[in-house]
Amino acid sequence: MPTPDPALFDKVVNLCKRRGFVYPSAEIYGGFRSTYDYGPLGSLMLRNVKDAWWRSMVQLRHDVVGLDASILSPPKVWEASGHLANFTDPLVDCTNCKTRHRQDNLADPDKCPSCGKTDTFTEARAFNLMFKTEAGPVEGAGAEVYLRPETAQGMFINCKNVLNTTRKWPPFGIAQIGKSFRNEITPGNFVFRTREFEQMELEFFVPPDDAEEWYEYWLKERFDWYVDLGIPPDLLMLRPHDEDELSHYSLGTADIEFMFPWGWGELEGVANRGDFDLKQHSEHANEKLEYFDQATGERYVPYVIEPAAGATRSMMAFLMAAYDEDEINGETRTVLRLDPRLAPYKVAVLPLSKKDVLQPLAKQLLAQLQPHVMTEYDETQAIGRRYRRQDEIGTPLCVTVDFDSLEDNAVTVRDRDTTDQVRIAVDDVVAHVVDRLNA
Ligand code: ATP
Repeated sequence: MPTPDPALFDKVVNLCKRRGFVYPSAEIYGGFRSTYDYGPLGSLMLRNVKDAWWRSMVQLRHDVVGLDASILSPPKVWEASGHLANFTDPLVDCTNCKTRHRQDNLADPDKCPSCGKTDTFTEARAFNLMFKTEAGPVEGAGAEVYLRPETAQGMFINCKNVLNTTRKWPPFGIAQIGKSFRNEITPGNFVFRTREFEQMELEFFVPPDDAEEWYEYWLKERFDWYVDLGIPPDLLMLRPHDEDELSHYSLGTADIEFMFPWGWGELEGVANRGDFDLKQHSEHANEKLEYFDQATGERYVPYVIEPAAGATRSMMAFLMAAYDEDEINGETRTVLRLDPRLAPYKVAVLPLSKKDVLQPLAKQLLAQLQPHVMTEYDETQAIGRRYRRQDEIGTPLCVTVDFDSLEDNAVTVRDRDTTDQVRIAVDDVVAHVVDRLNA
């Protein structure tokens, strides 16, 4: 059984800031609580997480299509989905220290974790997590709109469009990646819980009789996705919801959890939502949302299996799982053992010295590699320091151009994890690098 490693949290957060993965938002104005900007490395890595998801959920399947729905939507959508009535957290205020807490997250429901006083909480109030704004040019006269708190409803309300415009029928899925917004009462733990975040969701529409089987199928698929991308299975757990924890519509839900530095935390929820969503929208929009199976002559409202993951939250988990410190030549080094598919840069081209003579070949290699993979170029500092910099950001391979290269027309390729080096002919570098990254 793994145990939480509290020290890991600061190490990863500091690395993220220091090396340009994640910055606190609006920092020059003193920061804006719980929002973050993804820097040069973070934006690359986040894109890689989303690409890996899209590849496995859409590209490699014949039964899933993509969607990119709007973020703003009218209240009707959220009335039908139940979010206007139910998407709430119980909120309590401490009358002593004026802090605000989610009642369901308190270790002791009567004791304020901020000031330690007991019986200082107000009555719990239901706090709706949706951000509301107005659309239209005249302030106060516009139409009410909501920023979506999940991407899922976009798939439900487009289900009929997709059925009518593609040659898909149940079992089939609609996948979407995009921003969601929740006015969380207690954001925190870095990008684990923020008010603006990115989700990767699949709504998989199936004949009702097959729902249980597909639910089990997606639980396994999704668990394996994290393992395939480098999270050790013992840092992951599948946690089925208890009866009293299930959402009112759910016929079964399990969370895929990761051992974060503070303990287990959800990465993704997989739910059998039954026919709840399509029936709700069908009723509220007065539109038939059912499928007629010509083969059996049967008409039915498909059940939905939903694997709903967080892109930003999983990126954090991938970083935490990859973080390592080892010893090289008596020195401690920090290394991110990221799967090459997730690493911001796949390869770094490093001329041994800044001397002009090495530059043309180094720049030539950079230009040859760039069309194939994200390539970094760095020519300042001692080579050992530059290797450490690349190790710390998870770059799997470094290509070093040295003075011998000008004689033997070959370069050194160094491996991040083993630090082993091999000499490769310049003409073979692209093929060698691409081959090793795909291995
Ligand atoms: P939690 O219990 O952590 O609030 P949830 O069960 O409300 O999460 P879902 O509605 O199932 O979350 O959303 C699916 C996924 O979206 C979550 O597993 C998580 O990875 C991500 N997610 C949800 N809320 C946030 C948030 N505030 N910040 C970052 N990621 C989030």
